[in-house]
Amino acid sequence: MSLMFDENGRPFIIIQEQEQKQRLRGIDALKANIAAARAVARTLRTSLGPKGMDKMLQSPDGDVTVTNDGATILKEMELKHEIAKLMVELSKAQDDEIGDGTTGVVVLAGALLEKAEMLLDKGIHPSRISEGFERAVDIAMPVLDSISEQIDFEQNDHEQLRRVAMTTLNSKIVHRIREELGKVCVDAILAVADMERREVNLDLIKLDGKVGGKLEDTALVHGIVVDKDFSHPQMPKRVDDAKICILTCPFEPPKPKTKHKLEIDSVEAYKEMQVAEKAYFTDMVQRVKASGATLVICQWGFDDEANYLLLKNELPAIRWVGGVEIELIAIATGGRIIPRFEDVSEQKLGYAKTVREMSFGTTRDRMIVLEECASMKAVTIFVRGGNKMVVEEAKRSIHDALCIVRNLVTDNRIVYGGGAAEVACSLAISEAADQIEGLEQYGVRAFADALDSIPMALAENSGMQPIESLSHAKAKQMREKNPRIGINCMKYSTDDMKEQYVYESLRSKKQQLQHAAQVVKMILKIDDVIEDKNYN
Ligand code: ADP
Repeated sequence: MSLMFDENGRPFIIIQEQEQKQRLRGIDALKANIAAARAVARTLRTSLGPKGMDKMLQSPDGDVTVTNDGATILKEMELKHEIAKLMVELSKAQDDEIGDGTTGVVVLAGALLEKAEMLLDKGIHPSRISEGFERAVDIAMPVLDSISEQIDFEQNDHEQLRRVAMTTLNSKIVHRIREELGKVCVDAILAVADMERREVNLDLIKLDGKVGGKLEDTALVHGIVVDKDFSHPQMPKRVDDAKICILTCPFEPPKPKTKHKLEIDSVEAYKEMQVAEKAYFTDMVQRVKASGATLVICQWGFDDEANYLLLKNELPAIRWVGGVEIELIAIATGGRIIPRFEDVSEQKLGYAKTVREMSFGTTRDRMIVLEECASMKAVTIFVRGGNKMVVEEAKRSIHDALCIVRNLVTDNRIVYGGGAAEVACSLAISEAADQIEGLEQYGVRAFADALDSIPMALAENSGMQPIESLSHAKAKQMREKNPRIGINCMKYSTDDMKEQYVYESLRSKKQQLQHAAQVVKMILKIDDVIEDKNYN
């Protein structure tokens, strides 16, 4: 910064912009970027697999999250570095499109960068490395196709689907009850799936939760759960063939507003007013009943007097239902939201086969469930757990499992997990690399080495010797020509992942390889970083 004077003697300041910027070029830029991305991948590496560790993250407002879901960890980490953010985007893309494999994809990208750095040190141009990676992905895709198998989930009472869901749940805090949850997830997906068109709309599955009870109390409800109860304890706890009037206007006698003044100078006058109020409200109730409604769901509350009159007139009601839930109820029951009392009519009522109070598991909390609604086959998975962290993590795990099952309903091809698919690809790519002439060969071989890091991480996280486990799996796959041999993380008697039921969907595995390679290619292309010093 320097002070200058113009021709009239007025001072002005020249700020040299370059001073404010930090600039990295060429190999330095590449290395700095690789280091940032690898740091992110390193964080996630220990979370991979059934024995992976959880991370505890505290948000600026003090909320604590405990999770081992890659996408969630990265989202909560609030990374500043632009390249680190690319890794966040990578896991997010995997999460959005597939819903699982979010940790694996970042670990793989980290390993690819590690190998790329070694090649850079050898003096190989980044473009050559990228081309090699691209070629390796092209080799891996048909390999994955050839080792994939179709699972026939119509047979065996959906046993296989359940097994796949359980594999996902294995690595999460909910693994204790993975069998029950696996069943819940499969049932939920099958309830909303359109089997003919092989489509699943996940929006129809509401994932809800409440602190209290045990994880075991988590249940699938074929309908909508509303965390409310009937407004009066003496109202019936169940309404069959419910015709539902959904009100967003107050349902009580009109109250004198504070800005009006009402003078009552005698007991008689007061009583008269009370009678009038009562008559007014009874009239309202009769009008609702006349429309054929057998249940009122109201966004507003009503006072004790109104509540008592509803009970007297045998019109069960639920009050203080939130706006979002009101909308969901309206969509599901095919009813219309009625904002003005005068508009109540038969055509606007919604329908549910049963509306009843239900308790979940061992807790005494009661909630209202609307089942078999008119126009939608919505289901709710209602998660219970000892504290908020558990409920939230269980919801995330269930979401992953739901995504996996959904993927299999839309495309039922699978490959075997536990690093088996990676080892098979790595072997095939290494073999192919020998045939490639020129520098590209190095990139291709590096890709094969990077794939090895997935089984190695799985072994390391399970307390096993990584190199030994990997070489064992590789040798056995080659010897027995069996692409199902993976890392025996659970120390079962077999390391055949088919027998351990460790499945991953083919689509997810393919996407992991493609996306990881794509991000790495992008990072390798950046050779100039101009950073504003003031920004950080
Ligand atoms: P992601 O977020 O990538 O799904 P996970 O922590 O769920 O990460 O770990 C998934 C990895 O763990 C996959 O490679 C999968 O094949 C492997 N895996 C899951 N269960 C087992 C198991 N029982 N034995 C060996 N590997 C397993």
